[in-house]
Amino acid sequence: MNIEDNKIASFHYTLSNTQGEEIESTRDKEPMTYLHGARNIIPGLEKVMEGRSVGDEFQAIVEPVEAYGERKEANVQRIPSKHFKKANQLKPGEILKIQTKRGPVQVTVLKVGRFNIDVDANHPLAGQTLIFDVEITAVRDATEEEIAHGHVHGPEGVEH
Ligand code: ZN
Repeated sequence: MNIEDNKIASFHYTLSNTQGEEIESTRDKEPMTYLHGARNIIPGLEKVMEGRSVGDEFQAIVEPVEAYGERKEANVQRIPSKHFKKANQLKPGEILKIQTKRGPVQVTVLKVGRFNIDVDANHPLAGQTLIFDVEITAVRDATEEEIAHGHVHGPEGVEH
């Protein structure tokens, strides 16, 4: 069975940057499972999954525009520390969710000053070319319910 729209595919991957440093891997845990064609994974990866089947191993090099986008300097912001609950406990590199007018946003703390906190709302992988080493481990038909919801159900997906 090949991966195409409305199939559920599972795969192991190791993600590295162009310097050859490993960023994350599923090798020591469960494979990633997703509904193909529903934009559940980054576009550049979904594209190269098309037509693959169980046992296929390949490398995909994904440019930022097809991954987490380019970094935007406007996403780096200085926020008065009084807007944070525990400003004095924050540390650079920490990831937290802040409330904005447009809803919750995940940010990385860059700098903790006395009166202000500098945060970066860019995705940690924005601006990076990503190298995925992929192995397809399972492909199955999606259920009608999964197609209607646009995501995987069951132990490997959403339970509800
Ligand atoms: Zn659902």
